[in-house]
Amino acid sequence: MNSFKTISGWGGYPKTNSEVISPRNIDEYKINLKKTFIARGKGRSYGDSANYKTVLQTSFLDKIIHFDKINGLITCEAGITIKKILENIVPTGWFIPVSPGTSFATLGGSIASDVHGKNHHRSGSFGEHVKDIKIMLGNGNIENISTENNSDLFYATCGGMGLTGVILSATIKLISIKSSQIIQTELKSKSLEDTCSIFEENDKAQYSVAWLDCFAEEKSIGKGIITLGEHSEKGNLNFNIKRKVNISKNFPSFVLNKYSISIFNKLYYAYHKNNRKRLVHLFDYFYPLDKINNWNRLYGKNGFIQYQFVIPNDQIVKNLKLIFKKISEFGINPFLGVLKKFGKQNDNLLSFPMSGYTLAMDIKIDKKLFKSIEELDKVVANLGGRIYLTKDSLMKEEIFKNSYTKWKQFEKIREKYGAINRFRSDQSLRLGLK
Ligand SMILES: Cc1cc2nc3c(=O)[nH]c(=O)nc-3n(C[C@H](O)[C@H](O)[C@H](O)COP(=O)(O)OP(=O)(O)OC[C@H]3O[C@@H](n4cnc5c(N)ncnc54)[C@H](O)[C@@H]3O)c2cc1C
Repeated sequence: MNSFKTISGWGGYPKTNSEVISPRNIDEYKINLKKTFIARGKGRSYGDSANYKTVLQTSFLDKIIHFDKINGLITCEAGITIKKILENIVPTGWFIPVSPGTSFATLGGSIASDVHGKNHHRSGSFGEHVKDIKIMLGNGNIENISTENNSDLFYATCGGMGLTGVILSATIKLISIKSSQIIQTELKSKSLEDTCSIFEENDKAQYSVAWLDCFAEEKSIGKGIITLGEHSEKGNLNFNIKRKVNISKNFPSFVLNKYSISIFNKLYYAYHKNNRKRLVHLFDYFYPLDKINNWNRLYGKNGFIQYQFVIPNDQIVKNLKLIFKKISEFGINPFLGVLKKFGKQNDNLLSFPMSGYTLAMDIKIDKKLFKSIEELDKVVANLGGRIYLTKDSLMKEEIFKNSYTKWKQFEKIREKYGAINRFRSDQSLRLGLK
């Protein structure tokens, strides 16, 4: 089943006119193997990593193959969403080891982006919990890959943005939970120094994340609310989620402007009390935005980018301040800022996380933005950092090749397994990958 559509990532920018291949089974999929394409899950990446003139939808791969409830191992087809996995595992006392901020990502997308959660400082990223993967190569052969078997292809595939082949299924190791409640503690910080100290003091917390007021100025830059989380031992294991709000197609984009957001940020900060502890359902803790259907429409037809970078720990406060200063100098107006602390870098060749701090900011598209982001990318790269590929739509080839230092090794492995010129996205073209 093939159709022609205009597609985009979650940010709505850029848009690509594509032939969308939606096979109903593997045989239908194989018919399309002669084409060059990129696999596409639910399009929850923000930029153009799942865009190309031909894309392969993985929605047909949506089944749980085997769930070992005793040992907490689950094997699923790659097009299944995290939400569907959770509906099946949470009531039996299991949870996924690493969770991105949306439950609408697919298993394949989570592996291909090697996603991280609020526990990277303790648990690393998604690929580190994958036991094995079944992948279809460019010639139609299906390989089983793991850290023991074809390990070079495994390390290239986890975080490899769909450029090594189509992930068909994978087995992941789950974590045991007693309840679907999270004990959430909110801590208020007054400055960037304060925010980073709170992260360091709470390094043992299972989950941590900070919302930052991007409109704060001078000494208050970097102030925000740090939210810690632990799985509760008490409570039931229910997982009945209802969506609440829908943003209409015609939502007027002017409502979201720097003045309205600045007021929202002030109110949000004032509303939170320091050191407030409460029990929340894990869905509300991990996926608060998933209850608002199509929230990306708030940014209007031109869309937005999510700019996410990581920089190393060394002199972190000074360097984050420098970046905030540059953001202001370049006239960039981020509406939302989310800071997390990362643990160690793993062995995956194009994986994003490295020891340090990562900041993600939602920025509405305007004419001046592209030039400003080009300048900001240089600042991040000069500090030894890099930009997250699954959020990126603007990075230049040179910045990519300087900051993702294993890209040549990645290309060699793609060549070895016949992926060159077979799997391609708008992003891979822009970044100079074959
Ligand atoms: C609200 C929100 C919050 C988010 N929070 C986080 C977060 O906290 N941490 C984080 O790391 N990410 C986060 N993300 C990003 C998201 O988790 C990733 O972009 C994820 O890859 C999206 O999955 P998807 O199935 O929609 O993939 P798509 O967007 O469809 O594709 C993303 C990449 O995966 C590849 N891919 C998809 N399926 C396959 C497959 N079967 N085989 C091979 N390659 C494949 C594509 O080719 C593409 O390169 C967030 C996104 C949103 C919208």
